[in-house]
Amino acid sequence: MTSEVPQLHMFFFPFMVHGHMIPTADMARLFASRGVKVSIITTPLNAPLFSRGIERSKNLAMDIDIKIIKFPVEAGLPEGFESLDTSKGIEMDTVKKFLFATTLFQEPLEQLLQEFKPDCLVADTFFPWATDAANKFGIPRLVFFGTSFFAMCVGHCLSLYEPHKKVESDSEPFLVPNLPDEIELTREKLPIFMTQDTGNAMRMLIPSKDLEMKSYGMIVNSFYELEATYADYYRNVLGIRAWHIGPVSLCNKGIEDKAERGKKATIDEQECLMWLNSKKPNSVIYICFGSMANFTPAQLKEIAMGLEASGQEFFWVVRKEKSNDEEEEDWLPEGFEKRMEGKGLIIRGWAPQVLILEHPAVGGFVTHCGWNSILEGVSAGVPMVTWPIFAEQFYNEKLVTDILKIGVAVGTKQWVMVVGDFVGSDAIEKAVKEITVGEKAEEMRSRAKVFGEMAKRAVEKDGSSYSDLNALIQELSLRRGY
Ligand code: UDP
Repeated sequence: MTSEVPQLHMFFFPFMVHGHMIPTADMARLFASRGVKVSIITTPLNAPLFSRGIERSKNLAMDIDIKIIKFPVEAGLPEGFESLDTSKGIEMDTVKKFLFATTLFQEPLEQLLQEFKPDCLVADTFFPWATDAANKFGIPRLVFFGTSFFAMCVGHCLSLYEPHKKVESDSEPFLVPNLPDEIELTREKLPIFMTQDTGNAMRMLIPSKDLEMKSYGMIVNSFYELEATYADYYRNVLGIRAWHIGPVSLCNKGIEDKAERGKKATIDEQECLMWLNSKKPNSVIYICFGSMANFTPAQLKEIAMGLEASGQEFFWVVRKEKSNDEEEEDWLPEGFEKRMEGKGLIIRGWAPQVLILEHPAVGGFVTHCGWNSILEGVSAGVPMVTWPIFAEQFYNEKLVTDILKIGVAVGTKQWVMVVGDFVGSDAIEKAVKEITVGEKAEEMRSRAKVFGEMAKRAVEKDGSSYSDLNALIQELSLRRGY
């Protein structure tokens, strides 16, 4: 008689923002491609983000399903508000209500854990209560933060040593104590929930070493060669167990997979590729500020002027929809679109970012330093202009500019939720030129290409991320006696 080895079953429960759900969809496919049965927990309106990818992976015999839980109405958010949607700006009160709503997921999560008894729960860092929920059923809980080892180390050292409380003003620089490198920050670049009393509701956004220590460990979307010193520091000095399995975006091999991450793209992927195919290698700058940033018309106008003055061709993603009755939109300089015809493309809405970044025509990336975007830029081997806005983006900027040395800062100084610190067109022009023209630009490009190659090797058979993923799966299997 042959005894069947039961399949390892993992639950994934991401926070409801695109920057967390997109890499979770990739992680689900990554684990499923190694024979793990994966269930993604989410709410009705967020399910389509995962189901499209699941449909495509069915042909590849991957075992992924979605478990739907209702979004709690008790939080008092408008109907249909199931992700932290910032398309029309966002009030702190809404963020607080949203965070409160997520705490109400504990009960339905526990019901699912009891019913299906998965071998592991990977829950978002913003669900700190999930560790207790999993413990009740003896299920190991892994934390997914969705940022770099570097940013997690900076966050912990700031929380542990509080250097920002020892400076005289918001703009006085300080060094983050006890890190392997000299990392200089200012108080105004730190998340407001670290520098101001934003109340209990926001506390879960502050990185917590206790949470990370109490959990089974961390899953990190990064690769060892990119930030080895900080991966070691995180594990050996801070003493937190972690497995690096990224860049997870590289699990998307086909054009459709690359084009349909997150939302449906506003531009047809073939049209997008045709436009890029008509350009010379490394000649196009790609500009995109992730899924949440929401600039003012005045800021968009400065970007347009800066791009035009830089003389570079560009592919610019703007989150504002085009209105039919305006001949020229008020955020564009007069005659801009006409002058830029053939030279620049503006996409209003959602772009197939990974597909674009990987195209040989793309030679630079202006990014808000969301970790997914940075890692996608690194994987594509392109130098970057760093334009951090909020979250942990100012830490990620330091990694790119000071440690990896594959980017230049545009010069934002102030952490401002969603709208960001204002940047003039001169600074934009200067930064774009710095990554495209001259010896320094060439150096950055060569370094970026090397990291891009390393990223691809990390996820190939026997690469560092491939091996860490195997090690995690083996450990979880052994734990259950498989
Ligand atoms: N993204 C995309 N098209 C867009 C905007 C964003 O595909 O037009 C994807 C991008 O590739 C990345 C994610 O959305 O995977 C954004 O995550 P990130 O951490 O960079 O920033 P956030 O949106 O969380 O600020």
